[in-house]
Amino acid sequence: MALIQHFIAGQQTAGISVRKHPVYDPAKGVAIREVLLAEPADVTSAVTSAKQAFAGWSEMSWANRQQILFRFRELLNLRKPELAAIITEEHGKVLSDALGEVTRGQEVVEFALGAPHLTKGEHSEQVSTGVDVFSLRQALGVVAIISPFNFPAMVPMWFFPLALATGNTVVLKPSEKDPSAAIWIAELLTEAGLPDGVFNVLQGDKVAVDGLLTHPDVKAVSFVGSTPIAKYVFETATAQGKRVQSLGGAKNHMLVLPDADLDLAADAAINAGFGSAGERCMAISALLAVDTIADELVAKISQRMSTLTTGDGRRACDMGPLITKEHRDKVANYIEIAKTDGASVVVDGRDVAIDGDASGFWLGPTLIDHVPTESKVYRDEIFGPVLSVVRVPSFEAGVSLINASEFGNGTAIFTNDGGAARRFQREVQVGMIGINVPIPVPVASFSFGGDKASIFGDLKAHGADGIRFFTKTKAVTQRWLDPSHGGINLGFPQND
Ligand code: NAD
Repeated sequence: MALIQHFIAGQQTAGISVRKHPVYDPAKGVAIREVLLAEPADVTSAVTSAKQAFAGWSEMSWANRQQILFRFRELLNLRKPELAAIITEEHGKVLSDALGEVTRGQEVVEFALGAPHLTKGEHSEQVSTGVDVFSLRQALGVVAIISPFNFPAMVPMWFFPLALATGNTVVLKPSEKDPSAAIWIAELLTEAGLPDGVFNVLQGDKVAVDGLLTHPDVKAVSFVGSTPIAKYVFETATAQGKRVQSLGGAKNHMLVLPDADLDLAADAAINAGFGSAGERCMAISALLAVDTIADELVAKISQRMSTLTTGDGRRACDMGPLITKEHRDKVANYIEIAKTDGASVVVDGRDVAIDGDASGFWLGPTLIDHVPTESKVYRDEIFGPVLSVVRVPSFEAGVSLINASEFGNGTAIFTNDGGAARRFQREVQVGMIGINVPIPVPVASFSFGGDKASIFGDLKAHGADGIRFFTKTKAVTQRWLDPSHGGINLGFPQND
């Protein structure tokens, strides 16, 4: 069986790793490859490779660094169907969705091509007599990126284009569930002319992560994954004095007001609830329907669900499988919990007809109405194609529920009332808000990140925050020889 290795110092290598993890084709339900799991000595090799490459890369001119990233963008744009095929094979999402993931990641590469402008410092002349002050931004050193299974290309691309553009070197630790995309990206960066060691991939599990979080030469950590691990990563790495941005889980609400266009809202609920089989941190999983329109909205959604096809992502299906059998079983169990808790299962995804191999990790789109807010079905991040409907009496009740949630990643409101939308955007404690937009993932020039238990750390992914995260500032106060400022003075410097 093919073995997926690390990518260190410009080449694929097994290092000293012997432990392995199976990598599945979830649409077939069979292991198709194995991936190596790093030992602490492999962590050291990857970090040393990045550290050795740092001096040359950070000293390289903006012009030359940008040329390499520009070539990477061009190659990626040309060859992204190859990457999408790898994602579909190991993750299961349908090909069109995988292609969309790569294209959203590519946006960050394009944004990073503006880094010379975005990192420009400030300059104040004559702050004191004959004295000028300016600030500049410099690279941090070796940065670690630890990514989840659900976006094996896009989430690494939220970070590494800006990390590289600003002169840092990278160790990427992808999810062990779909690790091939990272190797494909590393090879493409090399083809684009990236010097060896500037971008490394370390395959692994907790051993690899812990090694990166505690290695003294890792200066910053960008993590994306579930909330308990995000919190652990933040606490462990900050205790080691590292800069950390750690993005966690989600439970995203969509509030539909009575004046909304219900057809638009029903389409949006389908797209955001079942796209990528609900395995998106920006998926809508709780639909808050104001009582007066709830029956009509639920009917429109369930009617649309009957037209969806679930199957192998390489065929023209709408929705693929879940990532593993264990995860599929866990998600399916929420349908039983819903019944026990008194909710009504409108569409049961366990009954779905599959366009694919019977042994795949399937669960069809599921709609559950009248979900009590005490139920685990409402409270937990299910991370599957299960859309819960909670009926609310008013706008205010909807906003209260959203703000009572542990998570604050994304949310959406559907309405034609501008005043209600404006109140919503001001009052919800959520990082990313859609107004008649169900999956409000900001474009690359804005920053991506939530609120509450959906993020640990101050700076979000890409946009202006990304530039700040991957650079440190210096302020330089300079005076060129001027006889008027000679003489000894032990007092604190004052400007005059
Ligand atoms: P996960 O937390 O299980 O894994 C994420 C990364 O952490 C992986 O690289 C994994 O190898 C590593 N890891 C897992 N357990 C660990 C441990 N005990 N110690 C150290 N490292 C460990 O997440 P996942 O299942 O791969 O991804 C799905 C989760 O990611 C969901 O909760 C989803 O909401 C979240 N997510 C969030 C965002 C966001 O922007 N907020 C984006 C995508 C995914």
